[in-house]
Amino acid sequence: MRCPYCKEDKDKVIDSRSSEGGRVVRRRRQCQLCQRRFTTYERIEELVKLTVVKKDGSRVPYNRDKIISGIQKACYKRPISMQQITEAAEVIEEEILRQPGQEVSSRLIGELTMQQVNRLDKVAYIRFASVYHEFEEVNQFIEEVQEVIHRPKDTAGQKDLFNNTT
Ligand SMILES: [Zn+2]
Repeated sequence: MRCPYCKEDKDKVIDSRSSEGGRVVRRRRQCQLCQRRFTTYERIEELVKLTVVKKDGSRVPYNRDKIISGIQKACYKRPISMQQITEAAEVIEEEILRQPGQEVSSRLIGELTMQQVNRLDKVAYIRFASVYHEFEEVNQFIEEVQEVIHRPKDTAGQKDLFNNTT
């Protein structure tokens, strides 16, 4: 593995763990040149072979970096660490791997990502949702917001009605 710091290809594995039911191997590595440590995630073929079906029906190879960069953009200047983003991406991948077949819709990936972003940070969620406005969750979100906005007025109206009838 190439060291992300000095780009040297001389490292030693110091820890190895599998996750996601053994489908992903996390390796903690130490560069033999600069001595810095880094982690690699090696996933078995399932995700490598996975194809993403886009809304227009076109197909592209699955790319984890796209999920990560999507979350990163949403979390820009928010108190969310890279570790949290990577973990969120792992949860998403776990869910993707539960789907049958070799194809996954970009819509599902978007929905799963939105759920994770929502869990991480509400501001990031609103940002992400504004990009993926076509998803149902956003409509739900908008409905919720509207409910909150209209609630005091409605309650007042009901109170008046109640008072008038009694
Ligand atoms: Zn190095």
